[in-house]
Amino acid sequence: MPEGDTIHHAARRVRGALVGSAIRSIETPNPRHRLDRWPDRLAGREVRSVDAHGKHLFLRFEGDLTLHSHLRMGGKWGVYRQGERWRRARRRAWLVIRTDHHEVVQFDGPVLELMTESRTRFDRRLAAMGPDVLADELDEAGYLRRLREDDPTRGIGDALLDQRNLAGIGNIWKSEACFLAGVDPWRKTAAVSDQEALAIVRGVRPLMQASAERVRPGKPWVYERQGLPCRRCQTLVRARGQGDGNRTTFWCPGCQA
Ligand SMILES: [Zn+2]
Repeated sequence: MPEGDTIHHAARRVRGALVGSAIRSIETPNPRHRLDRWPDRLAGREVRSVDAHGKHLFLRFEGDLTLHSHLRMGGKWGVYRQGERWRRARRRAWLVIRTDHHEVVQFDGPVLELMTESRTRFDRRLAAMGPDVLADELDEAGYLRRLREDDPTRGIGDALLDQRNLAGIGNIWKSEACFLAGVDPWRKTAAVSDQEALAIVRGVRPLMQASAERVRPGKPWVYERQGLPCRRCQTLVRARGQGDGNRTTFWCPGCQA
């Protein structure tokens, strides 16, 4: 599943292709959107800005209209120069926006909706989102407040995945973040100090920021390394499903207490 760093990277590329360029056409090839008349509603409007929050991406058009997208498990944004070959099949495109120089394509994206700017502020799911882990200035107080309002018996690894606590962390970074801070992902949040909760996020942010810039991150410390010796202490890395979603958590019992 694409995590916040992937979406921030996509937002940067989409922004570069669309903001300041005249939009020549907008298509919504997927039958689900055939009756939505977006091409008519968006005709002649420029894209004012493109931004990401957590795993959500927003294309803000002139005249108070915003396209909201979430890629869920398998979606992808593609930005291609005019005439360049797409890396996924045409039939998988849900949205195609063309300028004189680029084609911006959302593939396989199950969440794609056109909303007014004000609705993006009052939409309950969006308003419930926690601070973006990749925001220029991380809202640490907001993150801690939400974490403390959450169920204190929840494991910290599971709580980190909840986008209402903190937006943008997915399964890979959840495991890496806990390792970097030396915190056992199974420890109940009640037993995780504020200092530790902040260390988890402060440690992983630079890696996610680098990844959003497409600077190759180093090899993972624990993610998908179950059964292999920890690269720091040689203890065997473990893996087990965690939380309601049963998403696999990877950790080193030697380094993480
Ligand atoms: Zn270790």
